[in-house]
Amino acid sequence: MEENNKRKAVLEEEPSASERVPVLSAKQVKTALRCEYQYYLEYVLKKKPPLSSEALSKGLEVHEMASKPFADGMTPEEMKMEADRGGVFRFVYHHLPKDSFPKIEPKIFVDFGYYKRVVIPDFLYNDRVYDLKTTSSVTAAKTLYSDDVIQLHYYWDTLGREHEAYVIKLLLPDESSGRSGYTSSLFRVNLSLVTLSLIYRTEMRILDILEGSKPVPSPGKTCKFCGFREICPHSVSDNGASAKTT
Ligand code: SF4
Repeated sequence: MEENNKRKAVLEEEPSASERVPVLSAKQVKTALRCEYQYYLEYVLKKKPPLSSEALSKGLEVHEMASKPFADGMTPEEMKMEADRGGVFRFVYHHLPKDSFPKIEPKIFVDFGYYKRVVIPDFLYNDRVYDLKTTSSVTAAKTLYSDDVIQLHYYWDTLGREHEAYVIKLLLPDESSGRSGYTSSLFRVNLSLVTLSLIYRTEMRILDILEGSKPVPSPGKTCKFCGFREICPHSVSDNGASAKTT
């Protein structure tokens, strides 16, 4: 009970540098779950993975277009007109509740005792939380990835376990495949304590690593998508061989 009350004590202030309390995020948990060594390179050694700049900037642009009418303070009537005009907003607005307004990307810090969490959900309502995921791949748009599931569980738990959790998948137009418009789909995330315990276990490992415990690398298929594969001594190539020997 006391722990739940603590979770509800939502702070909207960043901890001061003198507090020296670790601040964990869903992105950190997802990284450490994939590979602790990847977490170590990025968050302990502060290496910067090369960004896939085109996809990243397109994703940021789409997020901005999807939230601009809310940020601009449009009335419900203006929003409806904006949605009728088409474009990205229509395909996101269509899935959102119409009887209240969300907070857009609020940066929320929550005290978990000896560490803090930070969450920045895309659309936060009183009783629902939504995250927008963009993709160019038809297959990816049809699926809810484990990364999405982890992220929404993280929001749910951090915000006090009182929100329903949703992912909006937006499939982008793609000239190379002849797709000229957007399509979107809504997924409600089935919240499970099993996933939550995985998150907590991973957070405990992160805290151990921050205190000096050796990170355990997970070489495998994930190496193909890891930004550190060129510098990581544990990386394996696509055929499973150690990169050091290929
Ligand atoms: S290349 Fe593979 S083993 Fe190395 S950090 Fe990345 S995922 Fe981990």
